[in-house]
Amino acid sequence: MEKRPFVTKERLEEIVKEYPTPFHLYDEKGIRENARKLKDAFSWNKGYREYFAVKATPNPFILNILKDYGCGADCSSMTELMMSDSLGFSGSDIMFSSNNTPAEEFQYADKIGGIINLDDITHIEYLKKAIGHIPETISCRYNPGGIFKISNDIMDNPGDSKYGMTTEQMFEAFRILKSNGAKHFGIHAFLASNTVTNEYYPLLAKVLFELAVKLKKETGAHISFINLSGGIGIPYRPGQEPNDIKAIGEGVREVYEEILVPEGMGDVAIYTELGRFMLGPYGGLVTRAIHEKHTHKEYVGVDACAVNLMRPAMYGAYHHITVMGKEGEVCSHKYDVVGSLCENNDKFAIDRMLPEISRGDLLFIHDTGAHGYAMGYNYNGKLKSAELLLKEDGSVQMIRRAETPRDYFATFDFCDVLKDIKY
Ligand SMILES: *Cc1c(COP(=O)(O)O)cnc(C)c1O
Repeated sequence: MEKRPFVTKERLEEIVKEYPTPFHLYDEKGIRENARKLKDAFSWNKGYREYFAVKATPNPFILNILKDYGCGADCSSMTELMMSDSLGFSGSDIMFSSNNTPAEEFQYADKIGGIINLDDITHIEYLKKAIGHIPETISCRYNPGGIFKISNDIMDNPGDSKYGMTTEQMFEAFRILKSNGAKHFGIHAFLASNTVTNEYYPLLAKVLFELAVKLKKETGAHISFINLSGGIGIPYRPGQEPNDIKAIGEGVREVYEEILVPEGMGDVAIYTELGRFMLGPYGGLVTRAIHEKHTHKEYVGVDACAVNLMRPAMYGAYHHITVMGKEGEVCSHKYDVVGSLCENNDKFAIDRMLPEISRGDLLFIHDTGAHGYAMGYNYNGKLKSAELLLKEDGSVQMIRRAETPRDYFATFDFCDVLKDIKY
């Protein structure tokens, strides 16, 4: 499929008059339509709930949109818990799927009543010591080890991942938790990331449902939810077939009816913790070409850099680029599209065939709605950009301002070493 920005060049030219590039722009209409479709795809399950993975797009305005569709918040740190709590997510609206968790974070999650998802069996003792008891509702994260395959395709490598408990540990953990007063159990696993296939969730569900049946039989635990977590991907590349969420929901339903229902477990709620799927395609990084350079390669320098979007530098990830207003032109030029960091991996694209780019052209870097702004950092003293929301009525709302030098220097406010700094 061809990839098109959700905004026109004309509209962008208006927006940049008010908000200088670079910025991340989010598409409210797309976010809402997608959230509605997800909810619909799992409506067969009475207790279904999506806990949006806050780390993907930790913006309060975005969380508030998702709240309209009944989403909870999946948090992994103190600040994510604080943000969610402040927005009115409370109690079972919050899933705390952290790992290597500090005691203070367990304490805070418990204080606001969030559901705690334990990453390791040793965290049972640690949690008990931190909060003084074991919560009645508790979840455990599973890692079966080995390689996760669909047919013959390797999806991911759980055996190499730091998350979750082994099969034996899951049984042991359930016994210990039960003897400490836990009453309602959840099972969680995240075995493959960014899967662009309708088969991942049903296959994962099968693994978890079979485990749930055994755990119930052998430990007597009441399984109240199974959390399929994140991992549903998006088509970053043109030509990739997007996931069909309706088919994914139906696939999970089939396995549910085959494995859980006959065991009298038809009351188990299905949870998801999607991040990328919820937001990825509905955000774009808007940046302007400010330089061209002709040396051993052809370079286009833009005013964004890896600080605004780290995925290409970090994972070599592909992000499609549209040169605004040149959509119909032949991709006749081979460019490296680069940022300004003193770091040669600061390239949004390498050897990418694009239309001829002139200084001043606006570039739309696709699919930055999840794990985009959020992964930003301040290397080279670069400041993080604004986030803007393109609303359903076509207007634009700033949902996070750009950082200023004052923000950058704020962590020296405990002393006067920079008191004479000129802003
Ligand atoms: C990152 C993460 C997610 C979301 O993953 P996506 O790839 O964005 O769907 C969900 N749950 C946990 C525990 C995570 O760490």
